Amino acid sequence: MANVKFKIAICGGGVGGLTLAVALSKYPDIEVEVFEAAKCFTEIGAGVGIWPRAFKVLRKLGADLEQALLSRATDYEWTEEFVPSMNYRKSDQSDGAELFKLMTKGDLMRFHRADFHGVLLSYLPKSCKTHSGKRLVSYTQPTLPSNSPITLTFADGTTASCDVLVGADGIKSPVRGCMMREIAQNLSGEAATAVLSCIDPIWSGTTAYRTLICADKLRALQPNHRALREATMYLGKDVFILAYPISQGRYINFAGFILCADLVSTAYQEDTSHRRPFEGQWVGELTAKEFTDPFEGFEEDVKLLLECVEKGTLWAVHTVKHLPTHCYGRVALLGDAAHAMMPFQGSGAGQSVEDAYFLATVLGHPSTTLETVPRALAVYDKLRRPFSSDVALRSKLNGQLCALQEDVPLSKLGETLTKNWEWAWLSELDDTLEDAMKILDSTS
Ligand SMILES: Cc1cc2nc3c(=O)[nH]c(=O)nc-3n(C[C@H](O)[C@H](O)[C@H](O)COP(=O)(O)OP(=O)(O)OC[C@H]3O[C@@H](n4cnc5c(N)ncnc54)[C@H](O)[C@@H]3O)c2cc1C
Repeated sequence: MANVKFKIAICGGGVGGLTLAVALSKYPDIEVEVFEAAKCFTEIGAGVGIWPRAFKVLRKLGADLEQALLSRATDYEWTEEFVPSMNYRKSDQSDGAELFKLMTKGDLMRFHRADFHGVLLSYLPKSCKTHSGKRLVSYTQPTLPSNSPITLTFADGTTASCDVLVGADGIKSPVRGCMMREIAQNLSGEAATAVLSCIDPIWSGTTAYRTLICADKLRALQPNHRALREATMYLGKDVFILAYPISQGRYINFAGFILCADLVSTAYQEDTSHRRPFEGQWVGELTAKEFTDPFEGFEEDVKLLLECVEKGTLWAVHTVKHLPTHCYGRVALLGDAAHAMMPFQGSGAGQSVEDAYFLATVLGHPSTTLETVPRALAVYDKLRRPFSSDVALRSKLNGQLCALQEDVPLSKLGETLTKNWEWAWLSELDDTLEDAMKILDSTS
Protein backbone atom coordinates (compact mmCIF):
# COMPACT_ATOMS: atom_id res chain seq x y z
CA MET A 1 0.00 0.00 0.00
CA ALA A 2 1.17 3.53 -0.82
CA ASN A 3 2.04 5.91 2.02
CA VAL A 4 -1.27 6.91 3.53
CA LYS A 5 -1.76 10.67 3.51
CA PHE A 6 -4.91 10.52 5.64
CA LYS A 7 -7.73 8.27 6.77
CA ILE A 8 -11.33 9.12 5.87
CA ALA A 9 -14.36 7.85 7.77
CA ILE A 10 -17.61 7.88 5.81
CA CYS A 11 -20.67 7.72 8.05
CA GLY A 12 -23.55 6.26 6.09
CA GLY A 13 -23.52 3.56 3.43
CA GLY A 14 -26.33 4.89 1.25
CA VAL A 15 -25.93 5.97 -2.38
CA GLY A 16 -23.82 9.00 -1.44
CA GLY A 17 -21.52 7.23 1.01
CA LEU A 18 -20.90 4.26 -1.28
CA THR A 19 -20.27 6.48 -4.31
CA LEU A 20 -17.66 8.35 -2.30
CA ALA A 21 -16.00 5.12 -1.16
CA VAL A 22 -15.85 3.78 -4.74
CA ALA A 23 -14.60 7.11 -6.12
CA LEU A 24 -11.86 7.29 -3.46
CA SER A 25 -10.54 3.87 -4.53
CA LYS A 26 -8.67 5.71 -7.30
CA TYR A 27 -6.41 7.20 -4.63
CA PRO A 28 -4.29 4.50 -2.96
CA ASP A 29 -2.84 7.04 -0.54
CA ILE A 30 -6.23 7.57 1.12
CA GLU A 31 -7.50 5.01 3.62
CA VAL A 32 -11.29 4.64 3.73
CA GLU A 33 -13.64 3.20 6.33
CA VAL A 34 -17.45 3.17 6.01
CA PHE A 35 -19.67 3.07 9.11
CA GLU A 36 -23.32 2.18 8.49
CA ALA A 37 -26.01 2.32 11.18
CA ALA A 38 -28.18 -0.48 9.76
CA LYS A 39 -27.41 -4.16 10.41
CA CYS A 40 -26.62 -4.59 6.72
CA PHE A 41 -25.98 -2.31 3.77
CA THR A 42 -29.31 -2.14 1.94
CA GLU A 43 -31.97 0.11 0.35
CA ILE A 44 -35.75 0.40 0.55
CA GLY A 45 -38.08 -1.34 -1.93
CA ALA A 46 -38.92 1.50 -4.31
CA GLY A 47 -37.77 2.97 -7.59
CA VAL A 48 -35.17 5.63 -8.18
CA GLY A 49 -34.58 7.68 -11.31
CA ILE A 50 -31.17 8.91 -12.41
CA TRP A 51 -30.77 11.68 -14.98
CA PRO A 52 -27.96 11.85 -17.58
CA ARG A 53 -25.98 14.45 -15.59
CA ALA A 54 -25.64 12.09 -12.62
CA PHE A 55 -25.13 9.03 -14.83
CA LYS A 56 -22.20 10.76 -16.56
CA VAL A 57 -20.63 11.04 -13.09
CA LEU A 58 -21.28 7.37 -12.31
CA ARG A 59 -19.62 6.40 -15.60
CA LYS A 60 -16.40 7.90 -14.28
CA LEU A 61 -16.33 5.16 -11.64
CA GLY A 62 -15.30 2.65 -14.29
CA ALA A 63 -16.54 0.84 -17.39
CA ASP A 64 -17.50 -2.31 -15.45
CA LEU A 65 -19.63 -0.40 -12.98
CA GLU A 66 -21.23 1.51 -15.84
CA GLN A 67 -22.14 -1.74 -17.60
CA ALA A 68 -23.51 -3.20 -14.37
CA LEU A 69 -25.77 -0.17 -13.98
CA LEU A 70 -26.85 -0.23 -17.62
CA SER A 71 -27.82 -3.88 -17.30
CA ARG A 72 -30.09 -3.10 -14.33
CA ALA A 73 -31.77 0.01 -15.75
CA THR A 74 -35.20 -0.73 -17.16
CA ASP A 75 -35.79 -0.21 -20.94
CA TYR A 76 -32.74 2.00 -21.13
CA GLU A 77 -30.43 2.84 -23.97
CA TRP A 78 -27.74 5.48 -23.61
CA THR A 79 -28.27 8.28 -26.12
CA GLU A 80 -27.27 11.92 -26.50
CA GLU A 81 -30.39 12.55 -28.62
CA PHE A 82 -33.54 14.23 -27.35
CA VAL A 83 -36.07 11.58 -26.37
CA PRO A 84 -39.52 11.60 -24.74
CA SER A 85 -38.75 10.58 -21.16
CA MET A 86 -41.97 11.32 -19.31
CA ASN A 87 -45.58 11.58 -20.23
CA TYR A 88 -47.76 14.21 -18.47
CA ARG A 89 -51.54 13.94 -18.16
CA LYS A 90 -54.32 15.90 -16.47
CA SER A 91 -55.85 13.10 -14.48
CA ASP A 92 -58.06 14.35 -11.62
CA GLN A 93 -61.13 13.82 -13.80
CA SER A 94 -62.90 10.79 -15.26
CA ASP A 95 -61.55 11.42 -18.77
CA GLY A 96 -57.85 12.06 -18.48
CA ALA A 97 -56.18 14.33 -21.01
CA GLU A 98 -52.69 14.23 -22.53
CA LEU A 99 -50.77 17.40 -21.59
CA PHE A 100 -47.24 17.01 -22.97
CA LYS A 101 -44.21 14.76 -23.22
CA LEU A 102 -41.07 15.86 -21.42
CA MET A 103 -38.26 15.83 -24.01
CA THR A 104 -34.82 15.34 -22.49
CA LYS A 105 -31.31 14.96 -23.93
CA GLY A 106 -30.82 11.36 -22.90
CA ASP A 107 -33.42 9.37 -21.01
CA LEU A 108 -34.15 8.99 -17.30
CA MET A 109 -32.57 5.77 -15.99
CA ARG A 110 -35.05 3.86 -13.86
CA PHE A 111 -33.87 1.41 -11.20
CA HIS A 112 -35.09 -0.63 -8.31
CA ARG A 113 -33.24 1.07 -5.44
CA ALA A 114 -31.79 -2.20 -4.19
CA ASP A 115 -30.29 -2.89 -7.66
CA PHE A 116 -28.74 0.56 -7.89
CA HIS A 117 -27.32 0.44 -4.37
CA GLY A 118 -26.24 -3.19 -4.87
CA VAL A 119 -24.07 -2.27 -7.87
CA LEU A 120 -22.25 0.43 -5.87
CA LEU A 121 -21.78 -2.00 -2.98
CA SER A 122 -20.32 -4.67 -5.25
CA TYR A 123 -17.70 -2.24 -6.56
CA LEU A 124 -16.36 -1.23 -3.15
CA PRO A 125 -12.64 -1.98 -3.23
CA LYS A 126 -11.28 -4.66 -0.88
CA SER A 127 -9.10 -2.04 0.77
CA CYS A 128 -12.22 -0.22 2.02
CA LYS A 129 -13.19 -1.41 5.50
CA THR A 130 -16.93 -1.52 6.11
CA HIS A 131 -18.75 -1.74 9.44
CA SER A 132 -22.49 -2.29 9.80
CA GLY A 133 -24.53 -1.77 12.98
CA LYS A 134 -22.41 1.32 13.75
CA ARG A 135 -24.76 4.23 14.41
CA LEU A 136 -22.77 7.42 14.88
CA VAL A 137 -23.96 9.53 17.76
CA SER A 138 -21.41 12.33 17.75
CA TYR A 139 -17.88 13.33 16.83
CA THR A 140 -15.28 15.56 18.42
CA GLN A 141 -12.84 17.45 16.29
CA PRO A 142 -9.73 19.08 17.78
CA THR A 143 -9.62 22.83 17.19
CA LEU A 144 -7.61 23.90 14.15
CA PRO A 145 -4.71 24.01 13.45
CA SER A 146 -4.34 20.76 15.40
CA ASN A 147 -4.01 17.70 13.14
CA SER A 148 -4.91 15.24 15.88
CA PRO A 149 -7.54 12.66 14.91
CA ILE A 150 -11.30 13.23 15.00
CA THR A 151 -13.07 10.89 17.44
CA LEU A 152 -16.30 9.19 16.46
CA THR A 153 -18.69 7.86 19.10
CA PHE A 154 -21.27 5.21 18.22
CA ALA A 155 -24.56 4.23 19.83
CA ASP A 156 -23.08 0.90 20.99
CA GLY A 157 -20.57 2.81 23.13
CA THR A 158 -17.56 2.12 20.89
CA THR A 159 -15.35 4.79 19.35
CA ALA A 160 -13.20 5.12 16.25
CA SER A 161 -10.86 7.76 14.92
CA CYS A 162 -10.15 9.34 11.56
CA ASP A 163 -8.43 12.35 9.99
CA VAL A 164 -11.36 13.38 7.81
CA LEU A 165 -15.03 12.69 8.46
CA VAL A 166 -17.75 12.72 5.80
CA GLY A 167 -21.34 12.70 6.98
CA ALA A 168 -23.29 10.76 4.35
CA ASP A 169 -25.75 9.85 7.07
CA GLY A 170 -28.98 10.98 5.49
CA ILE A 171 -31.66 13.47 6.42
CA LYS A 172 -31.39 13.09 10.23
CA SER A 173 -27.57 13.32 10.06
CA PRO A 174 -25.91 13.40 13.50
CA VAL A 175 -22.82 14.72 11.69
CA ARG A 176 -24.83 17.77 10.60
CA GLY A 177 -26.07 18.22 14.18
CA CYS A 178 -22.55 18.15 15.62
CA MET A 179 -21.21 20.42 12.89
CA MET A 180 -23.88 23.06 13.40
CA ARG A 181 -23.26 22.97 17.19
CA GLU A 182 -19.51 23.33 16.58
CA ILE A 183 -20.13 26.39 14.42
CA ALA A 184 -22.68 27.90 16.80
CA GLN A 185 -20.19 27.67 19.70
CA ASN A 186 -18.20 30.48 18.11
CA LEU A 187 -21.27 32.66 17.55
CA SER A 188 -23.78 34.29 19.82
CA GLY A 189 -27.35 35.56 19.81
CA GLU A 190 -29.37 35.39 16.62
CA ALA A 191 -26.43 34.15 14.53
CA ALA A 192 -26.02 31.12 16.79
CA THR A 193 -29.78 30.50 16.85
CA ALA A 194 -29.93 30.62 13.04
CA VAL A 195 -27.19 28.00 12.73
CA LEU A 196 -28.77 25.73 15.35
CA SER A 197 -32.13 25.99 13.55
CA CYS A 198 -30.56 24.05 10.65
CA ILE A 199 -30.10 20.88 12.68
CA ASP A 200 -33.60 19.43 12.57
CA PRO A 201 -35.26 18.51 9.29
CA ILE A 202 -38.48 20.35 8.46
CA TRP A 203 -41.69 18.85 7.12
CA SER A 204 -42.02 20.04 3.52
CA GLY A 205 -45.82 19.90 3.54
CA THR A 206 -45.63 16.86 1.25
CA THR A 207 -46.72 13.30 1.92
CA ALA A 208 -45.68 10.54 -0.44
CA TYR A 209 -47.61 7.29 -1.00
CA ARG A 210 -45.13 4.69 -2.21
CA THR A 211 -45.59 1.14 -3.37
CA LEU A 212 -44.45 -1.36 -5.96
CA ILE A 213 -47.16 -2.84 -8.17
CA CYS A 214 -46.79 -6.28 -9.73
CA ALA A 215 -46.69 -5.64 -13.49
CA ASP A 216 -48.37 -8.97 -14.30
CA LYS A 217 -51.33 -8.01 -12.15
CA LEU A 218 -51.71 -4.72 -14.03
CA ARG A 219 -51.20 -6.47 -17.38
CA ALA A 220 -54.04 -8.84 -16.54
CA LEU A 221 -56.34 -5.85 -16.06
CA GLN A 222 -55.10 -3.91 -19.07
CA PRO A 223 -52.35 -5.43 -21.25
CA ASN A 224 -51.44 -2.08 -22.79
CA HIS A 225 -51.49 0.10 -19.70
CA ARG A 226 -49.30 3.20 -20.11
CA ALA A 227 -47.37 2.59 -16.89
CA LEU A 228 -46.16 -0.75 -18.28
CA ARG A 229 -44.43 1.10 -21.11
CA GLU A 230 -43.40 4.57 -20.01
CA ALA A 231 -42.92 6.92 -17.11
CA THR A 232 -46.19 8.77 -16.62
CA MET A 233 -47.17 11.69 -14.39
CA TYR A 234 -50.85 11.89 -13.57
CA LEU A 235 -51.50 15.46 -12.45
CA GLY A 236 -54.31 16.85 -10.31
CA LYS A 237 -54.92 19.82 -8.04
CA ASP A 238 -52.61 19.44 -5.00
CA VAL A 239 -52.19 15.72 -5.77
CA PHE A 240 -50.21 13.90 -8.43
CA ILE A 241 -48.81 10.47 -9.18
CA LEU A 242 -45.69 9.19 -10.87
CA ALA A 243 -45.66 5.63 -12.22
CA TYR A 244 -42.94 3.86 -14.17
CA PRO A 245 -41.70 0.31 -14.76
CA ILE A 246 -38.58 -0.93 -12.94
CA SER A 247 -36.77 -4.26 -12.43
CA GLN A 248 -36.85 -5.07 -16.17
CA GLY A 249 -40.60 -4.50 -16.22
CA ARG A 250 -41.52 -6.81 -13.31
CA TYR A 251 -42.80 -3.96 -11.13
CA ILE A 252 -44.34 -0.54 -11.51
CA ASN A 253 -42.94 2.03 -9.12
CA PHE A 254 -45.88 4.07 -7.84
CA ALA A 255 -45.36 7.35 -5.97
CA GLY A 256 -48.37 9.52 -5.23
CA PHE A 257 -47.87 12.95 -3.64
CA ILE A 258 -50.13 15.29 -1.71
CA LEU A 259 -48.84 18.82 -1.32
CA CYS A 260 -50.14 21.30 1.30
CA ALA A 261 -49.86 24.49 -0.74
CA ASP A 262 -49.12 26.86 2.17
CA LEU A 263 -46.21 24.81 3.52
CA VAL A 264 -44.69 23.90 0.17
CA SER A 265 -44.66 27.53 -0.95
CA THR A 266 -42.63 28.57 2.10
CA ALA A 267 -40.15 25.69 2.13
CA TYR A 268 -36.46 26.71 2.42
CA GLN A 269 -37.36 30.21 3.63
CA GLU A 270 -35.04 31.56 6.29
CA ASP A 271 -37.76 32.06 8.88
CA THR A 272 -39.08 28.63 9.77
CA SER A 273 -40.96 29.63 12.93
CA HIS A 274 -44.35 29.44 11.19
CA ARG A 275 -43.89 25.88 9.94
CA ARG A 276 -45.86 23.07 11.53
CA PRO A 277 -44.41 19.65 12.21
CA PHE A 278 -45.82 16.47 10.70
CA GLU A 279 -48.14 14.79 13.19
CA GLY A 280 -47.28 11.11 13.36
CA GLN A 281 -44.55 8.80 12.16
CA TRP A 282 -42.40 9.93 9.25
CA VAL A 283 -42.79 6.54 7.59
CA GLY A 284 -45.84 4.34 8.18
CA GLU A 285 -47.50 1.28 6.72
CA LEU A 286 -50.83 1.70 4.90
CA THR A 287 -53.55 -0.77 3.99
CA ALA A 288 -54.72 -0.84 0.37
CA LYS A 289 -57.77 1.27 1.28
CA GLU A 290 -55.77 3.90 3.17
CA PHE A 291 -53.35 4.02 0.28
CA THR A 292 -55.89 4.47 -2.49
CA ASP A 293 -58.41 6.87 -0.84
CA PRO A 294 -56.55 10.15 -1.60
CA PHE A 295 -56.59 9.41 -5.33
CA GLU A 296 -60.32 8.91 -5.67
CA GLY A 297 -61.81 10.65 -8.71
CA PHE A 298 -58.71 10.19 -10.85
CA GLU A 299 -58.95 8.84 -14.41
CA GLU A 300 -59.33 5.16 -15.38
CA ASP A 301 -55.58 4.63 -15.84
CA VAL A 302 -55.01 5.52 -12.19
CA LYS A 303 -57.99 3.47 -11.01
CA LEU A 304 -56.44 0.39 -12.62
CA LEU A 305 -53.11 1.04 -10.95
CA LEU A 306 -54.82 1.46 -7.60
CA GLU A 307 -56.75 -1.79 -8.05
CA CYS A 308 -53.41 -3.58 -8.04
CA VAL A 309 -52.19 -2.04 -4.78
CA GLU A 310 -51.94 -4.54 -1.91
CA LYS A 311 -50.28 -2.28 0.65
CA GLY A 312 -47.97 0.68 0.74
CA THR A 313 -46.09 3.18 2.83
CA LEU A 314 -46.74 6.78 3.70
CA TRP A 315 -43.70 9.08 3.85
CA ALA A 316 -43.78 12.53 5.36
CA VAL A 317 -41.25 14.21 3.08
CA HIS A 318 -38.86 16.33 5.13
CA THR A 319 -36.19 18.70 3.91
CA VAL A 320 -33.07 20.26 5.36
CA LYS A 321 -32.90 24.02 5.61
CA HIS A 322 -30.22 25.61 3.42
CA LEU A 323 -27.11 25.33 5.57
CA PRO A 324 -24.53 28.09 6.08
CA THR A 325 -21.81 25.60 5.09
CA HIS A 326 -21.35 21.96 4.11
CA CYS A 327 -17.95 21.67 5.83
CA TYR A 328 -16.14 22.69 8.97
CA GLY A 329 -12.49 21.97 9.61
CA ARG A 330 -11.90 18.38 8.46
CA VAL A 331 -15.58 17.39 8.45
CA ALA A 332 -17.89 17.56 5.42
CA LEU A 333 -21.51 16.71 4.68
CA LEU A 334 -22.86 15.22 1.48
CA GLY A 335 -26.18 14.20 -0.03
CA ASP A 336 -29.32 14.30 2.12
CA ALA A 337 -27.27 15.09 5.23
CA ALA A 338 -26.35 18.37 3.56
CA HIS A 339 -29.40 19.18 1.45
CA ALA A 340 -32.31 16.74 1.68
CA MET A 341 -34.75 18.14 -0.85
CA MET A 342 -38.22 17.48 -2.20
CA PRO A 343 -38.23 14.62 -4.67
CA PHE A 344 -39.82 16.45 -7.62
CA GLN A 345 -36.82 16.54 -9.93
CA GLY A 346 -35.79 12.94 -9.18
CA SER A 347 -32.42 14.36 -8.21
CA GLY A 348 -31.66 13.86 -4.51
CA ALA A 349 -29.70 10.67 -5.14
CA GLY A 350 -28.09 12.23 -8.22
CA GLN A 351 -26.94 15.20 -6.14
CA SER A 352 -25.46 12.80 -3.55
CA VAL A 353 -23.54 11.11 -6.36
CA GLU A 354 -22.25 14.49 -7.57
CA ASP A 355 -21.22 15.60 -4.08
CA ALA A 356 -19.43 12.31 -3.56
CA TYR A 357 -17.45 12.39 -6.79
CA PHE A 358 -16.57 16.05 -6.28
CA LEU A 359 -15.38 15.40 -2.72
CA ALA A 360 -13.27 12.42 -3.80
CA THR A 361 -11.65 14.55 -6.51
CA VAL A 362 -10.70 17.45 -4.24
CA LEU A 363 -9.53 15.14 -1.45
CA GLY A 364 -7.53 13.02 -3.92
CA HIS A 365 -5.89 16.07 -5.51
CA PRO A 366 -2.08 15.93 -5.10
CA SER A 367 -2.10 19.28 -3.28
CA THR A 368 -4.45 17.97 -0.60
CA THR A 369 -2.60 16.78 2.50
CA LEU A 370 -3.72 16.35 6.08
CA GLU A 371 -2.81 20.01 6.66
CA THR A 372 -4.68 21.30 3.61
CA VAL A 373 -7.86 19.19 3.92
CA PRO A 374 -9.87 22.21 5.19
CA ARG A 375 -8.92 24.13 2.04
CA ALA A 376 -10.04 21.25 -0.23
CA LEU A 377 -13.34 21.01 1.66
CA ALA A 378 -13.83 24.77 1.36
CA VAL A 379 -13.51 24.43 -2.43
CA TYR A 380 -16.17 21.70 -2.33
CA ASP A 381 -18.43 23.94 -0.27
CA LYS A 382 -17.90 26.98 -2.47
CA LEU A 383 -18.68 25.19 -5.72
CA ARG A 384 -21.19 22.49 -4.79
CA ARG A 385 -23.41 24.14 -2.16
CA PRO A 386 -24.92 26.85 -4.40
CA PHE A 387 -25.68 24.22 -7.03
CA SER A 388 -27.43 21.72 -4.76
CA SER A 389 -29.37 24.56 -3.07
CA ASP A 390 -30.56 25.67 -6.47
CA VAL A 391 -31.65 22.13 -7.36
CA ALA A 392 -33.63 22.01 -4.11
CA LEU A 393 -35.50 25.19 -5.07
CA ARG A 394 -36.12 23.93 -8.60
CA SER A 395 -37.38 20.66 -7.20
CA LYS A 396 -39.86 22.51 -5.01
CA LEU A 397 -41.09 24.49 -8.04
CA ASN A 398 -41.53 21.28 -10.05
CA GLY A 399 -43.77 19.99 -7.28
CA GLN A 400 -45.85 23.16 -7.28
CA LEU A 401 -46.17 23.01 -11.07
CA CYS A 402 -47.23 19.36 -11.01
CA ALA A 403 -49.73 20.04 -8.20
CA LEU A 404 -51.18 22.81 -10.37
CA GLN A 405 -50.46 25.32 -7.61
CA GLU A 406 -48.61 27.82 -9.78
CA ASP A 407 -50.29 30.41 -11.91
CA VAL A 408 -49.19 28.75 -15.16
CA PRO A 409 -51.75 27.83 -17.86
CA LEU A 410 -51.83 24.13 -18.74
CA SER A 411 -50.70 25.02 -22.26
CA LYS A 412 -47.46 26.51 -20.84
CA LEU A 413 -46.82 23.85 -18.20
CA GLY A 414 -44.53 21.70 -20.37
CA GLU A 415 -42.33 24.61 -21.39
CA THR A 416 -42.08 25.97 -17.83
CA LEU A 417 -41.31 22.59 -16.31
CA THR A 418 -38.69 21.76 -18.96
CA LYS A 419 -36.87 25.09 -18.50
CA ASN A 420 -36.77 24.56 -14.75
CA TRP A 421 -35.35 21.05 -15.11
CA GLU A 422 -33.06 21.09 -18.13
CA TRP A 423 -29.91 21.48 -16.01
CA ALA A 424 -30.30 17.72 -15.35
CA TRP A 425 -29.59 16.76 -18.95
CA LEU A 426 -27.95 19.88 -20.45
CA SER A 427 -25.23 20.68 -17.90
CA GLU A 428 -22.32 18.65 -16.52
CA LEU A 429 -20.54 18.37 -13.20
CA ASP A 430 -17.25 18.56 -15.14
CA ASP A 431 -17.68 22.32 -15.57
CA THR A 432 -17.50 22.91 -11.81
CA LEU A 433 -14.87 20.21 -11.33
CA GLU A 434 -12.60 22.06 -13.73
CA ASP A 435 -13.03 25.22 -11.65
CA ALA A 436 -12.13 23.26 -8.53
CA MET A 437 -9.00 21.87 -10.17
CA LYS A 438 -7.92 25.37 -11.21
CA ILE A 439 -8.22 26.60 -7.63
CA LEU A 440 -6.36 23.61 -6.20
CA ASP A 441 -3.66 23.66 -8.94
CA SER A 442 -3.04 27.35 -8.35
CA THR A 443 -2.43 26.79 -4.65
CA SER A 444 -0.22 23.67 -5.03
C1 LIG B 1 -40.52 9.73 -2.39
C2 LIG B 1 -39.10 9.95 -2.79
C3 LIG B 1 -38.71 9.69 -4.09
C4 LIG B 1 -37.39 9.95 -4.50
N1 LIG B 1 -37.03 9.69 -5.79
C5 LIG B 1 -35.80 10.00 -6.21
C6 LIG B 1 -35.39 9.77 -7.58
O1 LIG B 1 -36.16 9.27 -8.39
N2 LIG B 1 -34.14 10.13 -7.94
C7 LIG B 1 -33.25 10.70 -7.06
O2 LIG B 1 -32.12 11.03 -7.47
N3 LIG B 1 -33.58 10.87 -5.76
C8 LIG B 1 -34.82 10.55 -5.31
N4 LIG B 1 -35.17 10.74 -4.01
C9 LIG B 1 -34.14 11.26 -3.08
C10 LIG B 1 -33.15 10.18 -2.69
O3 LIG B 1 -33.81 9.06 -2.17
C11 LIG B 1 -32.18 10.71 -1.64
O4 LIG B 1 -31.76 12.00 -1.97
C12 LIG B 1 -30.94 9.80 -1.56
O5 LIG B 1 -31.29 8.51 -1.11
C13 LIG B 1 -29.91 10.40 -0.61
O6 LIG B 1 -28.81 9.54 -0.52
P1 LIG B 1 -27.80 9.68 0.70
O7 LIG B 1 -26.77 8.62 0.50
O8 LIG B 1 -27.37 11.08 0.84
O9 LIG B 1 -28.69 9.37 1.98
P2 LIG B 1 -29.47 8.04 2.37
O10 LIG B 1 -29.90 7.30 1.17
O11 LIG B 1 -30.50 8.45 3.34
O12 LIG B 1 -28.36 7.17 3.09
C14 LIG B 1 -27.94 7.48 4.40
C15 LIG B 1 -27.29 6.24 5.00
O13 LIG B 1 -26.76 6.59 6.27
C16 LIG B 1 -27.15 5.64 7.22
N5 LIG B 1 -27.20 6.32 8.52
C17 LIG B 1 -28.19 7.12 9.01
N6 LIG B 1 -27.86 7.57 10.22
C18 LIG B 1 -26.63 7.05 10.51
C19 LIG B 1 -25.78 7.16 11.64
N7 LIG B 1 -26.12 7.86 12.71
N8 LIG B 1 -24.58 6.50 11.61
C20 LIG B 1 -24.23 5.76 10.53
N9 LIG B 1 -25.01 5.62 9.44
C21 LIG B 1 -26.20 6.27 9.43
C22 LIG B 1 -28.52 5.15 6.75
O14 LIG B 1 -28.85 3.92 7.29
C23 LIG B 1 -28.29 5.12 5.24
O15 LIG B 1 -27.72 3.91 4.82
C24 LIG B 1 -36.47 10.47 -3.57
C25 LIG B 1 -36.84 10.71 -2.25
C26 LIG B 1 -38.16 10.45 -1.85
C27 LIG B 1 -38.55 10.74 -0.42
